[in-house]
Amino acid sequence: MKRFLIRWRHWWLLALGLAAVGAYLAFNLQLEQGRMEAVELERLSTQSKVIEDNLTRQLTAINLSLESIMTELPGWQNRPNAFFEGMNHLKSLGVAMTSVRTLLVLDAHGTVILSNLDELMGRNFYQRDYFQAPLQSLNPKMLYVSPPFKSVLNNYLISLSRAVLDGKGQFVGVVSAAIDPVDMQSLLNSVRYADDMRVMLVHGAGQVFVSAPALNNFMARDLSDPSSFFSQHLQSQRAVSHFRGVDYFADAPHLAVLRTFAPTTLVMDKPLVLIVSRALNVVIAPWQRDLGRQAVAYLLLVVLSAVGLFLYQRQKSYQRVSAQRLKLATQASGVGIWEYELSNRRYHWDAAMFALFGLNPKKVNVLNNDWRALLLPGEEHRMKDATRATINQGQAFDLMFQIRRQDGQLRFMHNRAALYSDALGVPNRLIGATEDITERKLQEIDLRLAATVFDCQESMIITDLNQVILRVNRAFTAMFGYTADEVFGKTPRLLQSGRQDRQFYAAMWERVNHDGTWQGEIWNRKKNGDIFPNLLSITVVHDDGGTVTHYVGTHADITQRKATEEEIKQLAFYDPLTGLPNRRLLQDRLQQGLSKARRDQKRLALLFIDLDKFKPVNDDFGHAVGDELLLAVAQRLQTCVRESDTVARVGGDEFVVLLPVIEAAPNALRVAQKIHDALVQPFTLSAGQTVSISSSTGIAIYPEHGSNEAELTQNADTAMYQAKAAGRDRFVVFEAAL
Ligand code: GH3
Ligand code: MG
Repeated sequence: MKRFLIRWRHWWLLALGLAAVGAYLAFNLQLEQGRMEAVELERLSTQSKVIEDNLTRQLTAINLSLESIMTELPGWQNRPNAFFEGMNHLKSLGVAMTSVRTLLVLDAHGTVILSNLDELMGRNFYQRDYFQAPLQSLNPKMLYVSPPFKSVLNNYLISLSRAVLDGKGQFVGVVSAAIDPVDMQSLLNSVRYADDMRVMLVHGAGQVFVSAPALNNFMARDLSDPSSFFSQHLQSQRAVSHFRGVDYFADAPHLAVLRTFAPTTLVMDKPLVLIVSRALNVVIAPWQRDLGRQAVAYLLLVVLSAVGLFLYQRQKSYQRVSAQRLKLATQASGVGIWEYELSNRRYHWDAAMFALFGLNPKKVNVLNNDWRALLLPGEEHRMKDATRATINQGQAFDLMFQIRRQDGQLRFMHNRAALYSDALGVPNRLIGATEDITERKLQEIDLRLAATVFDCQESMIITDLNQVILRVNRAFTAMFGYTADEVFGKTPRLLQSGRQDRQFYAAMWERVNHDGTWQGEIWNRKKNGDIFPNLLSITVVHDDGGTVTHYVGTHADITQRKATEEEIKQLAFYDPLTGLPNRRLLQDRLQQGLSKARRDQKRLALLFIDLDKFKPVNDDFGHAVGDELLLAVAQRLQTCVRESDTVARVGGDEFVVLLPVIEAAPNALRVAQKIHDALVQPFTLSAGQTVSISSSTGIAIYPEHGSNEAELTQNADTAMYQAKAAGRDRFVVFEAAL
């Protein structure tokens, strides 16, 4: 808003300035026009004066002529040839005075008795003004000036006449002189100095007598209209009047000088008025041309200054925008700009600098150097060294330093600066930019840490969102045999062993995406085809917005652990000598077999086998041979049963065969018979000895001989002892009665 007002203020000021210049020009032009008009009127006035002087002389001469005639008249009357003398006198006067056309002497009745023109002799002009006026007034001193009239010779004339009285004061006639308009016109013409200039001689009663240039329609025209310049002039009774405007002689405005002609040497009944005028537009034409030029110049000034202001404002606005842009850029990038004056050691900071250092611009000291207190120990020293190196050796100023802000935050800053010199080349200031690089620093640390972690002993895969492998570490290559290049762009499906089905992987990924992590054992395949167990951990990596960006998979080779587990299992459930299930496993299978038989309402048989007279074998051949025999017995026993059956060693020379599903008791007997037959076959041992042995077997069948493990076991054992007791080398089915 403020800027808007400033912008318009400029325009208002410009408009005001231009208006002032315009007013000044207009005022000057007005003055100039007035001055031109005044000069012109002065000239017109001078010209009119010239005519007046000339006319005065002429009229004075005419008056004198008339007086001379009046003086001579009585003399002529008394002399015999008075008529000829008189005629000659008038004729010679007429010739001498070029401005006079006609000279007349009229008797008391208006009849011409003498004239310079013969053709007028005897004519009567009783009615004419120039006769009537002297007749009415009877003033011999008065010179009558008649209004223009059309003469008998068809000319427009003005007559000057005087009354002639005799010695007793009786009216005896009139002498008159008619002024020659042609001559008069050339007089008027002689003062004209411009084509548009008009000079008129007007009778005091208002009729135009002569006009230069000649204009017929003006002849005898009456100018006595009360509003005319002529009437105004006469009314004012001034000798000379100046006028400006439209009057009778033209529609267009004129400058006019009106001069009343009434010489003091003459006594005239009516004055003559001279009108000298010029067309105003012609007079002020140079001024108008000047006006045109000035108007063009003024318009140019208006246009140029408007364009100038527009360009200036645009320039300003560009500067403002770019300053704004720089400000925004520095604000957005967290860069502060500073300047250090070498002469007075003062720092000038922009707002961003104060923000970066967490300082209040209103509370810093005069030099604005209290930020130094924020530097960590040793940093000030480094900064001074760098500054000195820049000023003295012209080295680039590029420095990283740490501050602890007043709010306790530790920040990493990056400072860059350049040295500036004055016009003489003397360095006078450092101008620099400071950037807060804390985040970047911390990220670098994070990255370094991540890189270190990534390079650990555990195999690691990083994939993108689509499980495309981006990176693997060295441990991965060592574990799977694939180099990073070989797996880059592939997916971890490359490692699948085929031991887990599709459902397994689907469930795994579902848990990964649901929980963000998954861990489990999985079989993978190495590059060389080996399949081995892995403990796989998958972790989801999110960006700040919570969107999944990567997956990280770590593999641990658990082959060893698996083997150990197997070993422990073996020890726990199998007989170490023969590898047959031991008593614990047997009980487990018996339990399972019983529940299944119960469910299916099927039979189950348990055969307790004890070797006869085994002890003597040990005694005769040694314990190792006894062991070998036990192992051979175990193998023979396994050949006598199906895979679903279990052969277990439960004691020194005691074995148990579990037949989980039998149709009927005889089936068990058939197996017992088969075992018995197998074991009585002599064993040839590794040392070459041949050993023969027999066995005693007790048989218990579910459900006939027991509904649970304990009963069945007990009863099978009982039956076995019965077989022993009955002389060995036989099998006995348990009988309750026994
Ligand atoms: P009987 O006909 O009554 O069964 O007599 P016998 O000699 O077989 O004696 P008996 O079944 O009571 O004892 C089993 C003998 O088996 C006792 C022991 O010396 C021997 N023996 C037990 N365990 C092992 C073994 O792991 N290795 C060897 N070599 N001999 C064993
Ligand atoms: Mg025995």
